[in-house]
Amino acid sequence: MRKCVYCGERAGLFGRRICADCKKLLARVTELRGKVSYGQFLDGLEQTGIDKEKILRFLQADPEGTGSIQDQVTAEMTSELMQVMGISGRQTAQEVKRIRDIGGKESE
Ligand SMILES: [Zn+2]
Repeated sequence: MRKCVYCGERAGLFGRRICADCKKLLARVTELRGKVSYGQFLDGLEQTGIDKEKILRFLQADPEGTGSIQDQVTAEMTSELMQVMGISGRQTAQEVKRIRDIGGKESE
């Protein structure tokens, strides 16, 4: 039985890399990203009726090694904000992660 690459729970059908809940969440992410604030984004995910804990696990998973969905969405929102404020450059998910990692180390 394969495990879901996002939440680590059983993915169900043989050969599936992602469970039905996370598939639903992914579709919602695609629908919401770039259109709403982070709060509204989280609300939108909660409206799926999926466990908040599972949503958080989903957001923090990094199955492709390209940054978690949380980091990707944060990066997108930061880039947008920077554009609005007239600052050039783009935030990437890796950058968000790097900053968070540094912050985590400092608070130890
Ligand atoms: Zn899952």
